[in-house]
Amino acid sequence: MTVTLTQPAVGGPQLPQERRLVTEIPGPVSKRLAARKDGAVSSAVGTMLPVYVAAAGGGVVVDVDGNSLIDLGSGIAVTTVGNSNPRVAEAVAAQVAAFTHTCFMVTPYAGYVEVAETLNRLTPGDHDKRTALFNSGAEAVENAVKIARSHTGRQAVVAFDHGYHGRTNLTMALTAKSMPYKSGFGPFAPEVYRAPMSYPFRDSGSGIDGEAAARRAIDVIEKQVGAANLAAVMIEPIQGEGGFVVPAPGFLPALAAWCTGNGVVFVADEVQTGFARTGDLFACENEGVVPDLIVTAKGIAGGLPLAAVTGRAEMMNAPHAGGLGGTYGGNPLACAAALAVFDSIEADGLVDRARQIGTTMAERLTALQAADPRIGDVRGRGAMMAIELVQPGTTEPDAALTQRVAAAAHAQGLVVLVCGTWGNVLRFLPPLSIPDHLLVEAFNVLEQIFKQS
Ligand code: PMP
Repeated sequence: MTVTLTQPAVGGPQLPQERRLVTEIPGPVSKRLAARKDGAVSSAVGTMLPVYVAAAGGGVVVDVDGNSLIDLGSGIAVTTVGNSNPRVAEAVAAQVAAFTHTCFMVTPYAGYVEVAETLNRLTPGDHDKRTALFNSGAEAVENAVKIARSHTGRQAVVAFDHGYHGRTNLTMALTAKSMPYKSGFGPFAPEVYRAPMSYPFRDSGSGIDGEAAARRAIDVIEKQVGAANLAAVMIEPIQGEGGFVVPAPGFLPALAAWCTGNGVVFVADEVQTGFARTGDLFACENEGVVPDLIVTAKGIAGGLPLAAVTGRAEMMNAPHAGGLGGTYGGNPLACAAALAVFDSIEADGLVDRARQIGTTMAERLTALQAADPRIGDVRGRGAMMAIELVQPGTTEPDAALTQRVAAAAHAQGLVVLVCGTWGNVLRFLPPLSIPDHLLVEAFNVLEQIFKQS
């Protein structure tokens, strides 16, 4: 069965920038596709909002029934420069016509080298750097651990409460939350330890500031792992899946300084926060933290699968020749897309745009919170904002309310995502190409939903 589209399948910013509902959500064509999915795709692969997409761009996702939804998710922080961004589309089309794959480990090509040079230049710190490219965030995280182990000759890795680093075996071990990411999938990779995170909303009242939270974590690390055994500390500068937890000021610098003092590799997992999302090119920059290794993916290539580890040359060069790689890592199409993304971030002023979007979202969410005591916390940075929903006056999570609000938002044409250890955080990650009027409309709709939920 083929699907007849009621919209032309051409995406990009030229799509009408409007919220338009012409059927219920999901519509009949999407429902037919969902039934086919049930018969064809593993039921373990879930879909949060089963509208099947025909085109996307600017700030909208258009489905196969002709509905146009406001995109506040960017495919989980991937299409930061916009879906089918014209620069990306053009660069990828040209690369497809030239060659699609040779394998960089067999016969290399310039795009890979140019992406590496650019990442070495753009990532925090002016030390000598090297980069290696991979396919997914999880794969890059695993390789960062391999590099840190090679460099230090040590094995242990520390990750944090609420952390998320992927779904492969080693990254499941690094990820905190059992359901749905880990449950039933063990045994997990050994020599992974967990330390307490700085979580200001849940630490409030305890007098634990950023430095105290770092001491709390370091104490656990020293007593339960021992610095002499520790290869790497792996942390998201702002946690993504764990609930957009922004650590208290001082936490990341104190941890990084402790790592430096103890010969431990400090790895920033910027898979979700990287590439202008937070109003800096990288979230670490906000406190002047310079990671030894930085892991990037998602926003790097406008939707094409690409990931990278970038870091100190002596660390990146520590594994033996041939120790890092993979058939598709740094695929030429993904590299062409990434180079176009880097151009777009600069030429379109996307770091500033993320800050503007952040200001608008923070204002709207703070106003919502003032009117609704179930919004316990408003947090995030730049175009990465969230609200944590709780029983009024407490930190008791309200996952049921979160689900109700998300479902109502979906029904009214907003693509919003839920996250958080307790499933009680609504997160907002619009593409930076979203026009202001759609952002305003989205939060007007959300305001009404809170009044009615
Ligand atoms: N690290 C972080 C911080 C992430 O947010 C994610 C994906 N949500 C990953 C790693 C894993 O990336 P991928 O899904 O591309 O493997």
